[in-house]
Amino acid sequence: MGNSAPAGAAGSRPEDRGSPKTETCNSAKASSPSATMTHQYPALTAEQKKELQEIAQRIVAPGKGILAADESTGSMAKRLNPIGVENTEENRRRYRVIFFHETLYQNTDDGTCFSKLIKDRGIVVGIKVDKGVVPLAGTNGETTTQGLDGLSERCAQYKKDGADFAKWRCVLKISETTPSELAIFENANVLARYASICQQNGIVPIVEPEILPDGDHDLKRCQYVTEKVLAAVYKSLSDHHVYLEGTLLKPNMVTAGHSCPTKYSSEEIAMATVTALRRTVPPAVTGVTFLSGGQSEEEASVNLNAINTCPLVKPWALTFSYGRALQASALNAWRGDLNNEKAATEEFIKRAEANGKAALGKYESSGSGAAAGKSLYVANHAY
Ligand code: 13P
Repeated sequence: MGNSAPAGAAGSRPEDRGSPKTETCNSAKASSPSATMTHQYPALTAEQKKELQEIAQRIVAPGKGILAADESTGSMAKRLNPIGVENTEENRRRYRVIFFHETLYQNTDDGTCFSKLIKDRGIVVGIKVDKGVVPLAGTNGETTTQGLDGLSERCAQYKKDGADFAKWRCVLKISETTPSELAIFENANVLARYASICQQNGIVPIVEPEILPDGDHDLKRCQYVTEKVLAAVYKSLSDHHVYLEGTLLKPNMVTAGHSCPTKYSSEEIAMATVTALRRTVPPAVTGVTFLSGGQSEEEASVNLNAINTCPLVKPWALTFSYGRALQASALNAWRGDLNNEKAATEEFIKRAEANGKAALGKYESSGSGAAAGKSLYVANHAY
């Protein structure tokens, strides 16, 4: 990104050789690697690194994944309105497990703090810490994500209150003119700043550069853009001295645009996805936890399974961090009625088990039930 001429290239072109007199003081400096090299001062102790890596490993232990029920108050309306439930604090409390700021400080019906209940069951508690997307002026509808101000203080408090990992979502769009270099660079940089701040506070950052499925682009274009975005993200994480072993990546799977006329098999999607990851994500990263991005529940399970059985070397755990693809059937069964809680829980467990198997490459699809096969695509999706 940015500079098209690599640093240190001056003086290496044939026409430059043997003409030292033309070199200015500045260009001599630029050509010396030591002048441009950054320096790392100790950022994390060995104990801090150990803690971060252990949290990351627990989250992506074989067959485990993440329930991303961290919708902001606005996004909860999109979950509750279709099933005829009012978007009130009480309804959100009754529906949700954890993960949005509000939920971390709510209690169960019998007064137990949610985060304690979850932790006591051996589940790692995480929290969404970004404050939503905002426009990048002068671009074709592109965005960055805000929330860095006061983030360190919030992370310190969340850690005390039981959270061990965090999520920050950035959004990129594919069109004829996007993603722009500015959007790629800005979003990579803000993700790296967030990741660095989390790690300083003992919180594992989930780095989420989501490329939306909106558009009619084909699989190849999505793979190309995914590679460019991920390469920029890992350059920024390196620049910001982020400890990769104590991070997780939450990417989109490489799929064709929602309106692309060509349909691709799960094997093709898996091959494109794993190829893009292998080209850009260092093996030091502990795990990749995919978002579902509007795929149906069944598609999301089948594609994750194909990713895990794809015949390429995969140095990271590959699992799920699904929002819509873990919640759709459960929401439909619940419809805000306490009497439906058992049915909703059963639907949730069904999907959790399917995805647990898919994360091991052992999921066998039995065809999809009506709800599980339904597309969960939302145009220009916000969280
Ligand atoms: P979906 O699985 O619904 O895409 O959402 C995952 C998520 O947490 C996006 O930020």
